[in-house]
Amino acid sequence: MQHTLMQLPYAQTALEPYISAETVSYHYGKHHSGYVNKLNGLIVGTEYADKALEYTVKHADGPIFNNAAQVYNHDFYWNCLTPVPNNPSTKLSSLIQRDFGSMEVFKEKILTVATGFFGSGWIWLVLTKDGKLAIDQTSNADTPVRHDVIPLLTCDVWEHAYYIDYRNGRADYLENWWKLLNWEFISNNLPK
Ligand code: MN
Repeated sequence: MQHTLMQLPYAQTALEPYISAETVSYHYGKHHSGYVNKLNGLIVGTEYADKALEYTVKHADGPIFNNAAQVYNHDFYWNCLTPVPNNPSTKLSSLIQRDFGSMEVFKEKILTVATGFFGSGWIWLVLTKDGKLAIDQTSNADTPVRHDVIPLLTCDVWEHAYYIDYRNGRADYLENWWKLLNWEFISNNLPK
């Protein structure tokens, strides 16, 4: 089974002015689609040739893992964004309040972790096995799917996510990334 590049749930211009169409065309059209194509080449003739993406992310190693996890992480990233502002569910709001104190404190914490993260990787809001919210960080292609926690929200902090629009200004990218969050999608990642 060959993997396909997800359809973006909005137009490539839709995230402007915070994330430009040029960034989306490179990030989605070159980087994300490149991971899909590489994965499809690598799995031919292997045990992952006909496996679902999430299975491959959970079990593969080396280049197959790296490309599969990057496909998974990017799918997740684009789904976390929306040009149409919306609100977290009552359930997610109360968990954020319980585990961080308030939405403002959560925002400050996740932006601080994301700003300070060294190198290329991903920042996550996850639900741990004991039902608590936590901020997680994974390097390169690594993903919470491998760490027995449930991902709710992610931010791509690879330079390719913001360099065209913000150059080395990761903090400015993060402030504007926050404005695009799709709280409906994020809330729906909580187990029912
Ligand atoms: Mn990326």
